[in-house]
Amino acid sequence: MDCIFCKIIKREANAEIVFENEFVTAFKDIKPDAPIHFLIIPNIHIATLNDTKPEHSKFLSEILLTAKILAEQNHVLEDSYRLVFNTNKLACQSVFHIHGHFLANRSFKWPPG
Ligand code: AMP
Repeated sequence: MDCIFCKIIKREANAEIVFENEFVTAFKDIKPDAPIHFLIIPNIHIATLNDTKPEHSKFLSEILLTAKILAEQNHVLEDSYRLVFNTNKLACQSVFHIHGHFLANRSFKWPPG
């Protein structure tokens, strides 16, 4: 399977990794949309949120817990930050390996575009 995020997990592609554990890897987005823009991915290939199963729950919960760790590490815990999951093409998903976009250090609007 030719998945760039699987390659990053296996260290077959470069990325600036900022956090990892048994379940997730977080790294800097190559084309950041905020001064702080990380991607948090499960360490197994799951294409979209639609492909999640109950047995993935530990991987999925670790994404949320990692967002909090990244907020702490980057001193934005008391400030504001956003975690975004684009799902499928019309929602602008371009890499089909689930990823939470962790965005911080900029102003946000709601609803997102
Ligand atoms: P999405 O459009 O929600 O699927 O987001 C995919 C994100 O992955 C985009 O923000 C890209 O800039 C980012 N991206 C794609 N390839 C890489 C890579 N090799 N290293 C880091 N970020 C990447």
